[in-house]
Amino acid sequence: MQNREVQSVVTPSATRDGAGVQLRRSIATPTLDHLDPFFLFDHFGSENPDDYIAGFPMHPHRGIETITYVLDGRVEHRDSLGNSGVIGAGDVQWMTAGSGIMHEEMPKVGPRRLDGFQVWVNLPAKLKMTRPRYQDIPSARIPEVVRADGARIRVISGVVDGQVGAVRDIFADPTYLDVALPAGCSFEQPVPRGHTALLYVFQGDVAIGGPEAASGAFIAATRLVILKDGDVVHVEAGGAPARFLLLSAQPLNEPAVRWGPFVMNTREEVALALQELRNGTFIKSSQ
Ligand code: MN
Repeated sequence: MQNREVQSVVTPSATRDGAGVQLRRSIATPTLDHLDPFFLFDHFGSENPDDYIAGFPMHPHRGIETITYVLDGRVEHRDSLGNSGVIGAGDVQWMTAGSGIMHEEMPKVGPRRLDGFQVWVNLPAKLKMTRPRYQDIPSARIPEVVRADGARIRVISGVVDGQVGAVRDIFADPTYLDVALPAGCSFEQPVPRGHTALLYVFQGDVAIGGPEAASGAFIAATRLVILKDGDVVHVEAGGAPARFLLLSAQPLNEPAVRWGPFVMNTREEVALALQELRNGTFIKSSQ
């Protein structure tokens, strides 16, 4: 069993998207386009409503699935499937854009701050034009594993200590864990060899790669850590509590062309999506 070592450490880039929402973006940047099958990783978080209140007004997606995980605050949404609602602290929303969806994602002010993450997971070629789907998963439905050493693991998707995550229908079948470790505590998670794996450290600092690597440098929040291949992810918290997301999935290894909110396999498919947006046939009526 080989521990996964650190391949590289990415400092998120400050950017704006939507109607001017301030974000920390780690995937879908000029230096890191994607980590197959993950095509975007955004961390939104601020105490200042001016940083997020403009939100993401009505916009399209095609060819991807998105997972939105809210840590604090509220995001109101509605879409072309007729869904609407509010996702709040601890809630998850997953959305399969498939052949096409139009939606808006509008953060609300208070009660404290807005904090959360959005990940885009690519769809395989044969499912790019699948029927759009959508689900909100309230916080209470997300299993939390609490270990004897005090580690708490929210299982958004994947399996930890036999607990199966709440999100089971993302086609790429990713593992998505929110892990909180007391100071000095360690955590291990098997990840199949060949799968892409990354950590997003957003509190404290961690050493990665097993006991033999613990003498190495700790990586402090806020950083995305890309892991090398191996069988097991081993993480140890430093002198303060640490919290991080662990994401992994099998790469699709297919050609991908991104244009804004679309990820398709060819330029022609992107051109078609744009043409359909212009002529009003983007949303498929057969849905
Ligand atoms: Mn969107």
